[in-house]
Amino acid sequence: MMIELHDVARIYPTPQGPFAALDNVSLTIDAGEMIAVVGASGSGKSTLVNLISGIDRATTGRVVVAGTALATLREGQLSRWRGRHVGIVFQFFQLLPTLTILENVMLPIDFCGTLPAREARVRATELLARVGIADQANKLPAALSGGQQQRAAIARALATDPPIVLADEPTGNLDSTTAAEILALLQELVAAGKTVVTVTHARDLARHADRVVVLADGRIVEVARG
Ligand code: ADP
Ligand code: MG
Repeated sequence: MMIELHDVARIYPTPQGPFAALDNVSLTIDAGEMIAVVGASGSGKSTLVNLISGIDRATTGRVVVAGTALATLREGQLSRWRGRHVGIVFQFFQLLPTLTILENVMLPIDFCGTLPAREARVRATELLARVGIADQANKLPAALSGGQQQRAAIARALATDPPIVLADEPTGNLDSTTAAEILALLQELVAAGKTVVTVTHARDLARHADRVVVLADGRIVEVARG
């Protein structure tokens, strides 16, 4: 089991009283699975992904990822743990604008110290080739198309060779052709043994997943075969 959520809730205090962004959620994901998370805006998709990455913490319940109960880690430990275990891909890419594409991909390796600087450069170059944008390595993010930036973000997510890749609406800002290419890239990661959790609005993108988790109002209402 790569990802386990046991009766997890994420509750926000609000002026109207406690609000459950997620409630009573239990889900286990095997290594090598591709999971699509779907649901209306506000249904809790990002909250779910942020609990798995440890960006957010459960109010109650247990989150165990790659064998670690995340509640046992303090903030500093958590960010080091995340750097080695989880690659994250965002809707708006979140590349650092003043660094080149190559430098963006090298950044997590530097942060985690998984490789010496020279090898980090070699690995980042290989990853950019793998996602099909080796020729963009020395450009700034703003010089790339949205699809190219998302390819760079996927390369960055793979930099430390984490077992898990989380993608929160990775195709939400891309045209349908480019979106299909990015999805194919995520499927290649699964074929290479990664565990991939993708949030998507598009039900048709979800059919490529092993399982589709449907959220409504913070609860899992359906888990379907993709
Ligand atoms: P989704 O990604 O499916 O659109 P989110 O996980 O971002 O949904 O949000 C789930 C619910 O939690 C939404 O109703 C949202 O308004 C609420 N929410 C998110 N963050 C906060 C917060 N900091 N305080 C109060 N409510 C929040
Ligand atoms: Mg969201």
